[in-house]
Amino acid sequence: ESESGGRAKMEKIVVSVRLRPLNEKEVAENDPSDWECINDTTIIFRNSLSDRSMNPTAYTFDKVFPSDCTTKQVYEEGAKEVAFSVVNGINSTVFAYGQTCSGKTYTMTGITEYTAQDIYEYIHKHEERAFLLKFSAIEIYNEAVRDLLSTDSAPLRLLDDPEKGTVIEKLTEETLRDWNHLKTLISVCEAQRKIGETSLNETSSRSHQILRLTIESSAREFLGKDNSSSIVASVNFVDLAGSERASQALSAGTRLKEGCHINRSLLTLGTVIRKLSKGRNGHIPYRDSKLTRILQPSLGGNARTAIICTMSPARSHIEQSRNTLLFASCAK
Ligand code: ADP
Ligand code: MG
Repeated sequence: ESESGGRAKMEKIVVSVRLRPLNEKEVAENDPSDWECINDTTIIFRNSLSDRSMNPTAYTFDKVFPSDCTTKQVYEEGAKEVAFSVVNGINSTVFAYGQTCSGKTYTMTGITEYTAQDIYEYIHKHEERAFLLKFSAIEIYNEAVRDLLSTDSAPLRLLDDPEKGTVIEKLTEETLRDWNHLKTLISVCEAQRKIGETSLNETSSRSHQILRLTIESSAREFLGKDNSSSIVASVNFVDLAGSERASQALSAGTRLKEGCHINRSLLTLGTVIRKLSKGRNGHIPYRDSKLTRILQPSLGGNARTAIICTMSPARSHIEQSRNTLLFASCAK
């Protein structure tokens, strides 16, 4: 590999775990929690039925967030450094991984907004540069890519551009006027995702959503001249399909085409992340799924990645929570 210097550090994938509070149903059903964050990097499983003196199982990550943490804290300590590197021209991706109803959308929605707020604040402080912010949004369902900013639900094709790598053909890219414009577009995406939900049976738990902010900037003194000062980079906010789909699809074989594809995207993502986290120089199978193909420029090379694994604290979800922590451990 030709890159040197801080490469190893830049490639590090930041992995954190967020425990949500017990919800009303879990409380009503007396579904207890056996999980406890004992410090800001370690979460333990302590079955209250078993002997308390037994050593509990401990899992360590870059950060763990107990159920009383705010999304702002999760953003500040688990995602900001990665997401905000976009202003320095470094591509990045922030993922939410976890079973359905564990808090992925809740977490990603907040993180997306906090990042955008910080970017706007940065722009106001740097009047010596001219900025252009662009926004696009897609959903990947059944390995079909859909534009969330378009009412046309026809799947979009991926093309190989010799310079840009994989590009999504005909994807809407909105140039943002201001913060309110972004908020409006995010609501459009939410509405689009909901429309799919009724007709396709809970699409959001089966589809991956990628919101992408692209920032272009250049020094004002060079505007219109030879612009070697210009920088362009993207930050991707990825709300993944429920991770239970991967395990279900595995156990159900290939009966469901849908499960099969989600399995493929999540499994490929897992493989790609695992290889990247080990700093392997060998083959990384980005091309094995649409998700990894689209995210390739924001995953490998100089890009930065943050993964927030969300989990339910409830005992009834113990198996899925363990799977989530296993994924998180492999990403580290
Ligand atoms: P997912 O996207 O993983 O399916 P959601 O983000 O939709 O899960 O969360 C499921 C429900 O739990 C939602 O009603 C959400 O508001 C709530 N929730 C999730 N995480 C938290 C949290 N940390 N604090 C409070 N409520 C939460
Ligand atoms: Mg969701």
